Amino acid sequence: MAALLGGAAAALLRRGAGAVLGAGQRRHRHKEKWATTAPRIPSTRLALHHFDTSYSLHLGELWPSVRAGLLCEQKYGALLNNFSAVDHVTQELELLNATDFVSEALQKAQQSQRGVAAREAVRGSQEGCVQGRTVIQAETSPPFRASISPKIKCYTFPRGDITRFCPARPDILGLLGYYLMDAASLLPVLALDVQQDDLVLDLCAAPGGKTLALLQTGLCVNGGHLAANDVSISRTKRLHQIFHKYVPKEVRETVSVTSYDGRDWQDVEGDTFHKVLVDVPCTTDRHSAMEEDNNIFHKRRTKERQMLPMLQLQLLMAGILSAKPGGDVVYSTCSLSPLQNECVVERAVEIAETQFNISVHVEDLSHFRTLFQDTFSFFSGCRLGELVLPHLTANFGPMYFCKLRRM
Ligand code: SAM
Repeated sequence: MAALLGGAAAALLRRGAGAVLGAGQRRHRHKEKWATTAPRIPSTRLALHHFDTSYSLHLGELWPSVRAGLLCEQKYGALLNNFSAVDHVTQELELLNATDFVSEALQKAQQSQRGVAAREAVRGSQEGCVQGRTVIQAETSPPFRASISPKIKCYTFPRGDITRFCPARPDILGLLGYYLMDAASLLPVLALDVQQDDLVLDLCAAPGGKTLALLQTGLCVNGGHLAANDVSISRTKRLHQIFHKYVPKEVRETVSVTSYDGRDWQDVEGDTFHKVLVDVPCTTDRHSAMEEDNNIFHKRRTKERQMLPMLQLQLLMAGILSAKPGGDVVYSTCSLSPLQNECVVERAVEIAETQFNISVHVEDLSHFRTLFQDTFSFFSGCRLGELVLPHLTANFGPMYFCKLRRM
């Protein structure tokens, strides 16, 4: 109680208790000791209180269902490891009724595009239009413009199915067949649209789920290069562990792994990369609502939490400055907070323009909502970028991602 009310209120409470009890010195000292050792409020409760206050405003009537999702078991996806012997793995996953949500979405988009093109062609010929032109228009409508790497495959169970995946097994070369991760974490990687000969920077890479997904595109096998950085040396060790379990030696040796403070990256390699992923530290809302360990809502981490948007902005600026002109940057968080999401992006665009004379264009990713609506629940109210909301039938996320092009 004392911790909840804060110092002044707690002091008032203590004085009041002494007066009512009319207790002597010893009794009073005993209460003092009790007050300082009183169990503190769990960080998860502080986090939920904070979320209730801010997200009920931001998400409105969606908040109760998002809150329920945050407090229930998260759903996983199985990112297929193309470096392992995958054939029998895909068969096993399909027997379990899991499907690859990426190729499924692409197939549906192509089918619906063919339908649109056919309808447009009929209408065009009826209206006396040139049929070829009509078809080209249909092919450049949003789902086709979305270049999504078909090499990234991630299996999920259907909506409402809460079956868990078994741990992956090693193949004859010792490489694991799939990596379990929040399937929504793949969306920022898909949005980056990595080409095989790209120079790619993953600025905050550890423990490495998205780095592994980046490698699945064939990057590093066909002439491209990946730089994976994370300021934390202990977390970078986990990145190396993942590489050892999933990536053959000849490929992992081509990845440069560093532990710089990402905010300084542009001083090391500015204007260099075709694609930059800036997956920043954030309030990790699902973790903060559920786990006491390493919880950023712990009282002693208040300052660190309040400084997060500033750190995120500095990291995003470093990402923008590391990209070549014409290069793309994807910014992502696993928080629902607009202060850590859209506000950071808006501020970065402004600073790039005013302080660096760099024009940055925020790309439209609304086709992601159309493409992946069967798998994820998207928030339709983002000013910039896209946000996956946890939902009991599709309990992925939160995952915010926004794509920026350095002009
Ligand atoms: N991309 C990772 C993945 O998919 O597994 C998760 C990244 S996690 C959300 C954020 C990471 O940022 C943490 O590993 C943290 O150590 C790192 N980080 C925090 N401050 C940083 C900084 N100043 N420079 C670089 N990395 C930083």
